Amino acid sequence: MPEYTAPLREIDFALRLAGLDQVSALPGKEDATLDLVTAVLEEAGKFGAGVLAPLNGPADTIGNKLEAGVVTTVPGFRDAYSQFVEGGWNSVSFDAEFGGQGLPLLVGTAVGEIWHSANMAFGLCPMLTGGAVELLSRQGSPEQKETYLPKLISGEWTGTMCLTEPSAGSDLSGVRSKAVPEGDHYLISGQKIFISWGEHDLAENIIHMVLARLPGAPEGTKGISLFLVPKFLPGGGRNDLICSSIEHKMGLHGSPTCVLSFGDGAGAVGWLIGQENRGLEYMFIMMNNARLNVGLEGIAVAERAFQAARDYARERIQGRNSKGQPAAIIEHADVKRMLVTMKAETEALRTLCYFAAARIDVADHHPDAEIAKQARALVDILIPLVKAGGTEAGMRVSDTAIQVFGGMGFIEETGVAQYFRDVRVTAIYEGTNGIQSLDLAGRKTQRDGGATIRALLSIMKVEAEALAPAEPALARAQLDAIAALDVAVGHIVAVGKDGQKLSALAVPYLRLFVLVAGGWMMVRQAQAALAPLEGDDPAFLQARLGIARVYGEQILVQSSGLLAIIAGGAQSVLSFDAATL
Ligand SMILES: Cc1cc2nc3c(=O)[nH]c(=O)nc-3n(C[C@H](O)[C@H](O)[C@H](O)COP(=O)(O)OP(=O)(O)OC[C@H]3O[C@@H](n4cnc5c(N)ncnc54)[C@H](O)[C@@H]3O)c2cc1C
Repeated sequence: MPEYTAPLREIDFALRLAGLDQVSALPGKEDATLDLVTAVLEEAGKFGAGVLAPLNGPADTIGNKLEAGVVTTVPGFRDAYSQFVEGGWNSVSFDAEFGGQGLPLLVGTAVGEIWHSANMAFGLCPMLTGGAVELLSRQGSPEQKETYLPKLISGEWTGTMCLTEPSAGSDLSGVRSKAVPEGDHYLISGQKIFISWGEHDLAENIIHMVLARLPGAPEGTKGISLFLVPKFLPGGGRNDLICSSIEHKMGLHGSPTCVLSFGDGAGAVGWLIGQENRGLEYMFIMMNNARLNVGLEGIAVAERAFQAARDYARERIQGRNSKGQPAAIIEHADVKRMLVTMKAETEALRTLCYFAAARIDVADHHPDAEIAKQARALVDILIPLVKAGGTEAGMRVSDTAIQVFGGMGFIEETGVAQYFRDVRVTAIYEGTNGIQSLDLAGRKTQRDGGATIRALLSIMKVEAEALAPAEPALARAQLDAIAALDVAVGHIVAVGKDGQKLSALAVPYLRLFVLVAGGWMMVRQAQAALAPLEGDDPAFLQARLGIARVYGEQILVQSSGLLAIIAGGAQSVLSFDAATL
């Protein structure tokens, strides 16, 4: 049995729901027809299943080795990465100007899901390179673009994001790394921690995107600048930076998480990107891209964990069925319940993530400025939902997969525990899910008094009402959840400037929003299943409808509990004296 099979039919269906037809109508994106995209995904599926997935187990058990500043990656990763670059997989959705294939981000996202499902540790490396490409494409000077973009796009070089320091985690105002001007460049010094793929042997060069402060820069986040610091300098020669250690982690062992020391000698040579003191603003370009992709990692691991649990449940015989015969555990309703809810959560979040990617394509490429602006506003709301929702789905689904396996789920040899250990970090990095919730509740809800979100809820409501005659139960659950979210928006706006109260309510608020946004996608799934296109397989559509019903009955109804938490105002939390804990 293969370790992982790319769910190509589900991915195609999600692309359709996410609006592939609108995206392929955008200028310059006309090549992204369903036929071409299907062909690309088939090849990606073969590469993911055949090359990357078999390395996932060794990534976990062998991990990376550090010796004298040199990181040796997991056996097989180097060869897989060469094949990845030769196959053009690094460049799928980058601009053609510097060698990219120019396909929409939507397609790159679907392809990325396959890499993360097959091998999340491997997939993280090109994901970070993608963020660096986006950053340089938007903010780099013509010379920086010329020098770095072609090789980052091809994948011959890789990129990193160097934000975190011992005193700067969620709060980057604590960044202490320094940058001192020296002729046409800067000398960078300081320590960065937790840098994913900060050092490795997969590529010829590593291009670090580093946050640091100039002499005399203002305190706080307004005094942070962004620098490009390559491992090897353009004229040749090693830059003054070294990997001093790699972390021992609960999962994701195939991705080296590095402590990087910049400028232990004369200073690491770096170049300013954009303008001084605007580094954090630029880094947010990369972080938005990364947040979407981290949500995607969660969804991808959920898919893989689901597949493992489903296959095990079909083979494991235990107990008896209703006819008194020995039963595969999938025949027991509780196990079936676990599997269908895993599937429902995965499909809802997959479509939501693809939908967000499609809106980014529209925001970036639509010729009508007003439509592009509306798409951008929607993306701003969707990003924290996809990041936190996708990663929580990844954790929940991989946790449930362990339960389906029973005792064997707790035994490392079956491999299912790895999914849970690997995916756990996704709720932490790229802004913890707590920080995502604060972003949603504060900047994205309170700032305009909830107006943008309420406009979105009206659209969702119309779609749910249209489904009501055919699928009353799902439509009812979605309408109730929308009504709950509408009330919750009122509570969040009413919190005003009480930061502690907002902090106590933000996570339940985000969770409620994720339920509703997932419900929106499931309403669309049900509608599409009820209106087949030529060539659709009726059994496949029936399954999609069944999954949408499961989402309504088993997941969406949790909205009332979340509203109760928000309406309660978290008084018990706020009034509790933390000193007595
Ligand atoms: C495996 C791994 C890979 C990583 N890769 C990278 C990388 O490539 N580049 C990089 O720069 N960083 C990377 N990181 C760092 C990561 O982004 C940080 O760990 C993360 O941003 C959280 O920061 P912290 O660990 O300092 O936690 P803290 O900021 O100390 O947070 C601890 C807890 O407090 C909460 N909290 C903090 N502040 C607030 C607040 N104001 N209000 C409410 N709650 C709050 C958080 O939500 C969290 O629950 C990586 C981390 C790991 C573990």
